[in-house]
Amino acid sequence: MAALASDEFQGRMPCSIGEEKTVDYLVKEMKAMGLTPGNGDSYLQTVPLLEIDTKLTNDMSISTKAGKMSLNPGTDYVVHTERAVDKAELLESELVFCGFGIISEQDNWNDYAGIDMKGKTAVVLVNDPGFGGEDSTFFKGNTMTYGGRWSTKYDFADKVGADGLLIIHQTSMAGYPWFVVQSSWMGPQQNLAGINRDNDCSVKGWITIDKAQELFKKSGEDLTEMIKAARTPGFKPVELGATVSVEMETTNSTCESSNVIGYLPGSKYPDEYILYTAHWDHIGTGDPVNGDSIYNGALDNASGTSTVLAISEMFANKEKAPERSVVFLFVTAEEQGLLGSEYYAENPLFPLDKTVANLNMDGVNPAGAMKDLSITGMGYSDMDDIAAAEAKKQDRYTIAEQEPEKGYFFRSDQFSFAKKGVPVFYGSGGFDHKEKGKEYVKEFSENYIAKRYHAPADNYDADSWNFEGMLQDGQLYYNVGSKLANSQQWPEWKSGSEFSRPKMMKN
Ligand SMILES: [Zn+2]
Repeated sequence: MAALASDEFQGRMPCSIGEEKTVDYLVKEMKAMGLTPGNGDSYLQTVPLLEIDTKLTNDMSISTKAGKMSLNPGTDYVVHTERAVDKAELLESELVFCGFGIISEQDNWNDYAGIDMKGKTAVVLVNDPGFGGEDSTFFKGNTMTYGGRWSTKYDFADKVGADGLLIIHQTSMAGYPWFVVQSSWMGPQQNLAGINRDNDCSVKGWITIDKAQELFKKSGEDLTEMIKAARTPGFKPVELGATVSVEMETTNSTCESSNVIGYLPGSKYPDEYILYTAHWDHIGTGDPVNGDSIYNGALDNASGTSTVLAISEMFANKEKAPERSVVFLFVTAEEQGLLGSEYYAENPLFPLDKTVANLNMDGVNPAGAMKDLSITGMGYSDMDDIAAAEAKKQDRYTIAEQEPEKGYFFRSDQFSFAKKGVPVFYGSGGFDHKEKGKEYVKEFSENYIAKRYHAPADNYDADSWNFEGMLQDGQLYYNVGSKLANSQQWPEWKSGSEFSRPKMMKN
């Protein structure tokens, strides 16, 4: 963990010198453990990436019934294009408020009902209609659903043929402040290469809630009332009688990144697989903060990468190989939108319908040993029960994640496998410290989110960290994987979840 998060690794940006060092390091470790290469005679799976650098050349202008508005790039809006073009723009594109921008058969919901979006730009809310509600059967109440995640809104806007999409940012509904939108979406963006996006929205992005409020007011509407309407079944899109224009210049290039993969062939059922994952990448170098420009990503995710390596070593050191095969996959470009895991899920090296489960680690608890195991996405599958049984052996109780509105289930690589129907486990020690209790952990995590998350200060910090929690979670992940690897159990999705085997997405 210290090596991966050192300055030498330059923040582990895909396609950089940091990638070279990281990939070499992982391959060397896997070889030394005697893991079998996961891709023929290679430990690497090439992931072709398209990098698009967008320059916002001027203000976004909006014409409303009550006059013009001018939005500054970065402070008021952030947009980009996913098309490999030199220039992208919206030219007096009609603005339509499309609720939460969700189409969900399961929830009997269509925010684009009865409107032709061609040439128009959708303005949508972040999260989903259940947000902040008491009724856990309406969508999932306060727990963010698949449709509530921004990436799903992007997909829906593409699907209905909209020209543009603007998501209204609001901190509590998004789960992160505006600066995360800025740092995530300004500057070069990577995406999977080789995908035709000619029919996707030409412009996608975000506007601040302040500017959205002004837009609605000038259009004779009230945002609070609109949010209420958007949460009412039968909501219909509202044409705002306003248009938006914005343009940007883009340059694009392609590069090759790598997923790193090795495995231990099963002794009895070699054609059935337990899949461990952790993303090796982080966000590289960037704007200096207190003179530091290397975004080391120690917790995110040198911690998960090194823990999964340690787990693979535990499996490799056992005298007898597990009955099923155990695969260790270190994916690239998670920070760019779960790209490495998406690529693997589209081009699996081991069949997904023979993949028993995915156990993903992203950010392993540095606060110390815990009384709890907090499961992100609890309620989705039988993996809950398998993990709970193992947690119990460690004298830990199991609880659901404590901030379900933030949509963490959709924010790391397990989501790429859930979409394909592979049951997943994503959990960590949680929120109840063995000696110091809940308040201590709350403060510890809030401090990390405020000062270190996606900042240069996410350094390896042996002085202030307590590694007991990582050991505890590493052991738990090993135990859960080992249990499945030495059984004939096939965990299933629970009824009512958005996912199911073998493949599918009900909406
Ligand atoms: Zn991460």
